[in-house]
Amino acid sequence: MKVVKFGGSSLADGQHFAQAINIITADPQRRVIVTSAPGKRNSDDIKVTDLLIRYAKQVLANEDYQETVDQIIDRYTAIANYFDVPSEKLQPLVDRLKELPSWRFPNDSYLMAAFKAHGEHLNANLMAIVLQQLGYEARFVTPEEAGIRVTGTPNNATVTPETYTLLDHFSFNDSELLVFPGFYGITLAGHIATFSRGGSDITGAILARGLHADLYENFTDVDAIYAANPQVVDHPQAISKMTYREMRELSYAGFSVFHDEALIPAIQGNVPINVKNTQHPEKPGTLIVPDKGFQPADIVTGVVSGKHFAAIYLHKYLLNKEAGFTLRILNILARHDISYEHMPSGIDDITIILDKNQIDDEMVDVICNEIQEEINPDQLEWIDNYAITMVVGEGMRNRTGVINDILEPLTEENIAVPIINQGASRISIMIGTYVKDADKAVQAIYHRFFAN
Ligand code: ASP
Repeated sequence: MKVVKFGGSSLADGQHFAQAINIITADPQRRVIVTSAPGKRNSDDIKVTDLLIRYAKQVLANEDYQETVDQIIDRYTAIANYFDVPSEKLQPLVDRLKELPSWRFPNDSYLMAAFKAHGEHLNANLMAIVLQQLGYEARFVTPEEAGIRVTGTPNNATVTPETYTLLDHFSFNDSELLVFPGFYGITLAGHIATFSRGGSDITGAILARGLHADLYENFTDVDAIYAANPQVVDHPQAISKMTYREMRELSYAGFSVFHDEALIPAIQGNVPINVKNTQHPEKPGTLIVPDKGFQPADIVTGVVSGKHFAAIYLHKYLLNKEAGFTLRILNILARHDISYEHMPSGIDDITIILDKNQIDDEMVDVICNEIQEEINPDQLEWIDNYAITMVVGEGMRNRTGVINDILEPLTEENIAVPIINQGASRISIMIGTYVKDADKAVQAIYHRFFAN
């Protein structure tokens, strides 16, 4: 059995719906379908999820939301009309959307989550209606019914282990197609909570694990995952196969085709993932598989640069002799709920690399002042413009000279490399550069490894 998930751009309008349905019905193994909310139809369009966020904000601010609701209804109506769905079939969906402001929520965050979740809820419901109308035995299944239980904050939920027990007891027959909305689950108290943005991928992976799928097919709008960002490197090579952990390391620094949190259930359930293009389902796409038995085709699988990093640099003479030094710095960070990414160190100095998105200018001052007072380093510096380039490949294991092949083209391009870090997994090397050099570094490394 296969779980098939369609992204928002693959379900943006009637024509795309029809393509998705062709894909679903072309293979009898495709039994579990996960939908996103309708995405953009063109570059100026607005995703339904973003319209729902606007709707929620207008409700919270006591503003007029009629126009927003109409815009959302129009999106679903256009899809329904494409398939001549009778209006009385669509009406319950429209009513539900309009009733949302009268629901009771524990707080504003839960309201936001419930509104957002309706992009996928209504789309899955509509998909089931269209499939039934076309003569297929299709069932719309909500996370409540299936048992997708979540905890955590309402707009950044995580799945609970109980979900898998409940999914084990979820029964369905061999002839039916099950249509699930992606992106959300139900809290233990019975409220809707969504995963982080792009989280329908996570629902697909949970169902793939929980319902014991043989394959998780993730249909999106690109032919494959590429060895480098096509906006940085011209016509990069497609990756035909890679391991879960290669994907994890690449998505860390910016490969965003597949949600990184969605890897976890797939790994736990040992379900391979196939990222494919809805427009070209005949193309093989990218297969993401367990590392056991994997035979890498190339030395490097992908190279990517993330530009959202900053660092605290500290120098203190005889730092290596001082017990608890690092602990005290990390305590300061923990006090302000800030996590660190990497911590390369020397004998008398240490660099703590942070994700800039979690820290504002004011917080930078607070932290640096506290470090100065409590640690009293000889030198303390805040470096605001770090980029991290990840060079990833199972083929790098047991291979000598790779670091040379990475650094040589960088030297030729005159790119400064203040930090190098080889992960313990030995399938990745992290190169810290300045932001201005990041794209050049990716291009130089890419061309060295993928010359032909
Ligand atoms: N519709 C949600 C979003 O735009 C989730 C998803 O598409 O996966 O983030």
